[in-house]
Amino acid sequence: MEAATEFVVESPDVVYSPETIEAQYEYRTTSVSREGGVLKVHPTSTRFTFRTARQVPRLGVMLVGWGGNNGSTLTAAVLANRLRLSWPTRTGRKEANYYGSLTQAGTVSLGLDAEGKEVFVPFSSLLPMVAPDDLVFDGWDISSLNLAEAMRRAQVLDWGLQEQLWPHMEAMRPRPSVYIPEFIAANQSARADNVIPGTRAQQLEQIRRDIRDFRSSAGLDKVIVLWTANTERFCEVIPGLNDTAENLLRTIQLGLEVSPSTLFAVASILEGCAFLNGSPQNTLVPGALELAWQRRVFVGGDDFKSGQTKVKSVLVDFLIGSGLKTMSIVSYNHLGNNDGQNLSAPPQFRSKEVSKSSVVYDVLVPGDAALYLQGEEPDHCMVIKHVLHVGDSKRALDEYTSELMLGGTNTLVLHNTCEDSLLAAPIMLDLALLTELCQRVSFCTDVDPDPQSFHPVLSLLGFLFKAPLAPPGSPVVNALFRQRSCIENILRACVGLPPQNHMLLEHKME
Ligand code: NAD
Repeated sequence: MEAATEFVVESPDVVYSPETIEAQYEYRTTSVSREGGVLKVHPTSTRFTFRTARQVPRLGVMLVGWGGNNGSTLTAAVLANRLRLSWPTRTGRKEANYYGSLTQAGTVSLGLDAEGKEVFVPFSSLLPMVAPDDLVFDGWDISSLNLAEAMRRAQVLDWGLQEQLWPHMEAMRPRPSVYIPEFIAANQSARADNVIPGTRAQQLEQIRRDIRDFRSSAGLDKVIVLWTANTERFCEVIPGLNDTAENLLRTIQLGLEVSPSTLFAVASILEGCAFLNGSPQNTLVPGALELAWQRRVFVGGDDFKSGQTKVKSVLVDFLIGSGLKTMSIVSYNHLGNNDGQNLSAPPQFRSKEVSKSSVVYDVLVPGDAALYLQGEEPDHCMVIKHVLHVGDSKRALDEYTSELMLGGTNTLVLHNTCEDSLLAAPIMLDLALLTELCQRVSFCTDVDPDPQSFHPVLSLLGFLFKAPLAPPGSPVVNALFRQRSCIENILRACVGLPPQNHMLLEHKME
């Protein structure tokens, strides 16, 4: 018997209409105050009404860096699934799937059945979401290769699959893009044969025209723009240049320094399209964030959390959560794809190093008081090397050293080998689907009855980013399962279900 994927919540707090799902939800949390050396903890409760529009739009995704390994692999993956492709390999026939996608391959528990067993449904059935097979792709690349040729250049997919996909991808051509040589490694210059000429202001206008053209020619309701182009060097945040929305727009008009990725972010925001940054550089400078705030457009970033960092945000959480004093984290990578080549240049490596380093900060905080002296923190070191032969098959080696009780030492060594783009593509998919879903959710509270959307800095996406952006003043969460719970519990709230607490008290009674 095939598992059921549809469910209804039978509760007076949840109302289904043809247009919306409306759920009354009690948000219970605690606030803490310090009084005379004593922490006073106050349980609080806020009543939310969540409203989710049920109509799923026709969604277009525009990838900046469409012809890269990630861009071509994601496009191929969606086509392969849509066409239900299978292909022979030396270990047998493989079929298209969406392994690695939280929404498509993850599940959530709805509760216990009459026998006391947990009942799971796919994550994607929690709320109406766009089906990945229905996504329409377009995008830009400074390299003019069509998507079939880009797939071949990437060397990610089995040949039998590439042959079947070739006729479907041959006609897909990336639009010309903005190339500013000083932002990416010099070793990328040979690729740049497909560029938008003109001033920064003219380039911005062209990107905006491209978005409008895609929206109308493909008959789309919505477009989301996702940066999956090469890692850029960091952009200096300078007062007067990019610190406010007004200054950033003026900088573009005057042709002063702005990175290509920031130009894309600004164009997307001005077109009312969510913008997501899959690379580590600081694309979303304060001026871009302010623009997103003013226009109420979602932005998310930075840097897909795909392999080594994902493991790190679990492993350090486990070590500190177990009360072990982690003293050194050393991560070494080598990879042979174009991303690796770009990262072999010091300024681009620096962007990646910063993003990869940030991932343990919040995980260390809970252990701080009990484990670390004031100012003490583990050594954290990162190395990335380009080794052409291994292609997209990235090698990641990590060593974690922790102090045990009574002077003992625990050393963990991990070796991870996998195709980088096959990890990134499902994450890109989840980013688009979850962002689109969030655009259909609104809520109000008993204290503020005006309907509102999530904050434009969409921190709910943190599970999918190495260096998650959060609204000003909001704590940044890196620990992977806290991030997953955040998404799951917010989606559950939208259908009036309590947070997943894993207490299983039903099974702890006599
Ligand atoms: P890639 O080099 O194969 O693809 C990047 C593409 O971007 C290339 O086709 C290049 O021509 C294009 N490009 C460069 N500058 C551009 C511009 N200004 N406008 C449009 N196109 C431009 O790299 P990839 O492996 O696909 O990775 C893409 C990005 O994702 C990298 O920045 C990488 O660091 C980041 N990332 C990848 C992973 C992963 O697991 N694959 C994880 C986290 C982050």
